[in-house]
Amino acid sequence: MRLAGKIAIITGSGSGIGRASALRFASEGAHVIINDIHQEHGEETVEEIRKNGGSASFFLADVTNPVDVQALTQFAIGNYGKIDILFNNAGISNVGRIDEVEPDVWDKVMSVNVKGVYLPCKYIVPYMMEEKSGCIINMSSCAAEIGLLKRALYSATKGAVLSLTKAMQVDYAPYNIRVNAILPGTIYTPFVENYLKSAYDDPTEAIAGIKKRQLSGELGKPEDVANAALFLASDESSFMMGSPLYIDGGVIFG
Ligand code: NAD
Repeated sequence: MRLAGKIAIITGSGSGIGRASALRFASEGAHVIINDIHQEHGEETVEEIRKNGGSASFFLADVTNPVDVQALTQFAIGNYGKIDILFNNAGISNVGRIDEVEPDVWDKVMSVNVKGVYLPCKYIVPYMMEEKSGCIINMSSCAAEIGLLKRALYSATKGAVLSLTKAMQVDYAPYNIRVNAILPGTIYTPFVENYLKSAYDDPTEAIAGIKKRQLSGELGKPEDVANAALFLASDESSFMMGSPLYIDGGVIFG
């Protein structure tokens, strides 16, 4: 059990990669606090974990809202006394070139993807500093490093997350807190399904194009990213600090 006795928070774990990671962390002995803005989806994750013999609880919070995030932090500290692992996974996307992005969409995507990483860190890191121990995983994307069609705003948010990760690592290394980032390629989740439907006339053709772009010849599965998150959350990655971890089927070389 690689995470026995650990308390983990995973934002946006009512779906996709967050849910798969929550299941994986729980299977390795962590108590996982599931967070999402969709109560029903979050509760489904908890149910699935419990069905498999794991331990989890749900807390409804919007990661862009400081009051919600403080309440999430207090829920964790009040009930479990500590937070060992914070996986900032919640994220959204948009489709469009920069000339097509409306200012309200800019603000919304920036808010969820960047402020939604900053706020949980702001309120949770002080407890980790007190414990002189902690592990933070931030969800970036291969889009931080390569150009993708109609994803300029999304890419900018994920680039910001990667920079934030590296800079935070320098600040918190003296407190024995590790901060690393995950950069997935295209992983088949509801998020990608929605993107493909709105970006392309023919999503099937688009999927064929993505498969060609990734050296693996396939789209990734949420479990592929969950395994990487587990590695970063465990002591097996103790020498990784401020690092980007690519889980992208080789898209970075495409
Ligand atoms: P998903 O849509 O399946 O899951 C995202 C979850 O985040 C949803 O349950 C959603 O309700 C939740 N969420 C959205 N806004 C929130 C908020 N304000 N507060 C709390 N929760 C919120 O998406 P996914 O594909 O599993 O993506 C998860 C993360 O991985 C995202 O940050 C995404 O950018 C990143 N990512 C995904 C891919 C991919 O190909 N799927 C690739 C690279 C990076």
